[in-house]
Amino acid sequence: MGTSDSIKDTAYLEEIDKIARTIQSTTLGKPSIEIGVMEDVNISFENHMATPAAFCNSLLAGKEISLNAECDFHTLVIAMAHELRHVEQYFFLGYKRNNFSLEDALKLERLLEADASAFASGLAWELYNKTGEEEYLLAMEKMGDGDIQQAFNNAAHSSSDKNFDAPTPFRAAFNAWFQNPIRRKSYDDFCTKSYFDIENSALSTFFFKNPSGLTLGLLKDIGSLSKGNNYLNDNDFLTNIFHDQFFFPNRIYEDGLGLQSSGSGIPTP
Ligand SMILES: [Zn+2]
Repeated sequence: MGTSDSIKDTAYLEEIDKIARTIQSTTLGKPSIEIGVMEDVNISFENHMATPAAFCNSLLAGKEISLNAECDFHTLVIAMAHELRHVEQYFFLGYKRNNFSLEDALKLERLLEADASAFASGLAWELYNKTGEEEYLLAMEKMGDGDIQQAFNNAAHSSSDKNFDAPTPFRAAFNAWFQNPIRRKSYDDFCTKSYFDIENSALSTFFFKNPSGLTLGLLKDIGSLSKGNNYLNDNDFLTNIFHDQFFFPNRIYEDGLGLQSSGSGIPTP
């Protein structure tokens, strides 16, 4: 029994190593692996997960990426890249959703998810070009993000800039994230629940509300692909999104959460 367990464990460790090395072999993924190592992220396989991968950044248990044992190799590479992007985001931004009002927390969640999905689609594109394996592009489909990959591929095909960190395809993928109402709602629901789980627990004392809320200054590092290349902040893309009253708050209203526009009235669940 013990032998069979340890063989299985070794196989899983080898699989994690292979996934991490594949990500590390890319221009886009190399820095995320370095940050993952620096941040001492634990990576493990789990059975019966609802998603291909998940990232948990817990005050008590530290940083952990869980990989779904039922997923194939290519899907796990792209799913882990998505989760590593979240590690990178927390590393650069240094704050969490409970530092803000619920409305700002929802905006932040959407920005972070759209960025992680855009990043993952870029990594899939780079690996597809490098290996010819279409499974990398199909991975995003299996993760429920096929529309985002399609937006990236279309923009990459029509762009004359063939660098893997050319900003246009990432912007297209980032935008595509917001076009899917089911996706928006599922993340808004998840964020609202996580937000109140902390607000209603003893952990809430660890979070100080940022007095100026979620500002552009706080978000300047979202969208960094490499030194000097930020696909959201180049051309003031993020500024435009941030100031477009119809882009964020109204969509939150449309989704039926009924938030108050002042941002000060946090509804009780
Ligand atoms: Zn995510």
